[in-house]
Amino acid sequence: MKQVKIMGVPLSHIDHKTLVKQLDEHVMLEEKSFVITVNPEIVMRANEDTAYMNHLHKANYITADGIGIIRASQLLKDPLPERVTGYDLMIDLLSISNIKGYKIFLLGAHKDVLKRVETNLQHFYPDIQIVGSHDGYFNWDQSDEIVEQVKQADPDLTFVALGAPKQEQWISENIDQFNKGVFLCVGGSFDVIAG
Ligand code: UDP
Repeated sequence: MKQVKIMGVPLSHIDHKTLVKQLDEHVMLEEKSFVITVNPEIVMRANEDTAYMNHLHKANYITADGIGIIRASQLLKDPLPERVTGYDLMIDLLSISNIKGYKIFLLGAHKDVLKRVETNLQHFYPDIQIVGSHDGYFNWDQSDEIVEQVKQADPDLTFVALGAPKQEQWISENIDQFNKGVFLCVGGSFDVIAG
């Protein structure tokens, strides 16, 4: 896929609608996919932290979360089509999941927030299957247990809301252990959905 590098971070030339369609195809074909949405802070951080830059490079798609990155691509005379946010991707993927009965795993946020997210999602998308969840306040050495939990649940889509840089690092470090599934970084989206 065509990419534009912004300070070493490869951004995908893809619009929201096309990416949603491709992620749906990945689910149908049981292909693994890792999606990150970046803002200028993430790009700056990656330039100061090689390990974090390497985590970003493991993603299949990196999109622009906000207008700052779009403007940077315009300055480089290689403009990205539009902003593609984690929240918007999550909402459209939930709508598709509600039609197709996809299995969802939720990772992140405080326990009470997560509970409200599950209740609200089940209310608004009654035909999705929430096959598992884990709050986002765990010790890093508990990651293997969470990986096991995700493997057992066998989700089509895993929404990871640990905030940057944790969410990108968690997926990058663990994705090799999964056979399938779309792993999407969604930042503060759970707090929004919890209401
Ligand atoms: N979060 C988490 N574990 C952490 C730190 C943050 O689960 O160790 C959650 C936090 O509760 C919130 C989400 O990550 O729901 C996004 O946090 P923040 O707003 O700091 O990140 P951003 O949206 O700016 O990436």
